[in-house]
Amino acid sequence: MGEYMKYNENFFKLKNDYVFTDLAQKVASKKSQGGESIIDLGIGDVKLPIFDLATKAMQKACEELSIKSTFRGYPPSQGYKFLRDKISAEYFEAGAQITPDEIFITDGAKGQLGGVLELFGSGAKTLFLSPCYPAGAESNILYGNSVSYLCGSVENGFIPSPPFGKFYDLIYICSPNNPTGSAMTFSDLALWIDYALSTDAVIIYDSAYSAYLTDEFPKSVYCLPKANRCAIEINSFSKSLGFTGVRCGYTVVPTALGDYNKLWKRRLACRFNGVSYPVQRGAEAVFCEQGRLEIKKRINFYKTNAEILKIALKNLNLWYNNSVCSPYVFASTPKGVSSAEFCSKLLMEKSVVATPGVGFGDGGEGYFRLSAFGDRQEILTASDRLKTLKF
Ligand code: PLP
Repeated sequence: MGEYMKYNENFFKLKNDYVFTDLAQKVASKKSQGGESIIDLGIGDVKLPIFDLATKAMQKACEELSIKSTFRGYPPSQGYKFLRDKISAEYFEAGAQITPDEIFITDGAKGQLGGVLELFGSGAKTLFLSPCYPAGAESNILYGNSVSYLCGSVENGFIPSPPFGKFYDLIYICSPNNPTGSAMTFSDLALWIDYALSTDAVIIYDSAYSAYLTDEFPKSVYCLPKANRCAIEINSFSKSLGFTGVRCGYTVVPTALGDYNKLWKRRLACRFNGVSYPVQRGAEAVFCEQGRLEIKKRINFYKTNAEILKIALKNLNLWYNNSVCSPYVFASTPKGVSSAEFCSKLLMEKSVVATPGVGFGDGGEGYFRLSAFGDRQEILTASDRLKTLKF
């Protein structure tokens, strides 16, 4: 480092990820001992391959790039209109009036959870509902914002009510939530929208798991009136299309929110050269009858996995969130056992990896998360092993 270079001091404010490092070390050491196979239900990554329609669309797009007359260079930084049109039509179908001009194609959701902060400048007061996926909070910390948490509980179904009387600039909401699996109903979300409008806050709505919602839940924050005046939505094709490796998603910045839509376009001009053409053609494949059917099949497969894991937890007499809108099962540890202790015991005695709830913030202590993104046989074996755990 040169004499005048400075570290971003905010890096030192990030919590040590010792819970995950410690668990990873234990997994590595257990693997090195051989014996029973380790089943990893800690990973939030899809297992099923991408369906043919999408991979064929990507292949065709690649072929186009090899022919002079159909070659394309830089994509539009906002995303190709063919994809934004399809996403917009889906919003209209769900009762949300989002136009193609308000949609921005991205390389997935994670970068956007922090990227959108450039719209607001540093020093914002940001609220998170805890437990939650840590990327948004960590990005806020790195950006110099002050981060507060509102913890959910079994009593409120991990959907805390807005803290009327308190003021924040930004509020992150994830529905269905990772890790809890809880999804906001129309009335839950209406309360948060009223709160945001009355306190002049902006909601950053992470709907990365919206494809897992059943029909009675809002598919988008914009299914609620006035949400376009107070919310930015971030979505992803990762957990629906299986694009965790391909990378594609979209962010909605409504024009009714004020100048943010114009500012976001300006931001793209200086920071982004778009998502590749083949990837956007692959994502487009989901927007047809067969594409939707294929996604539904995959989601139902993961949901059945989740139900199998729940039966094992029921046998153990542990509380679990009975949400049917999530590829994760969120459950409580036995009384007096910390989430790290429980996950360590599960690994040592049953060779099953789970994620300690505390890794998702203070609100997650006393709980653990099992990922249902597994092969059926793996899930069945893990479930048999779980049933015989003694504590
Ligand atoms: N939001 C939540 C709640 C997630 O759980 C994840 C990934 O696990 C992401 C966003 C990031 O998704 P992507 O693969 O689109 O970056």
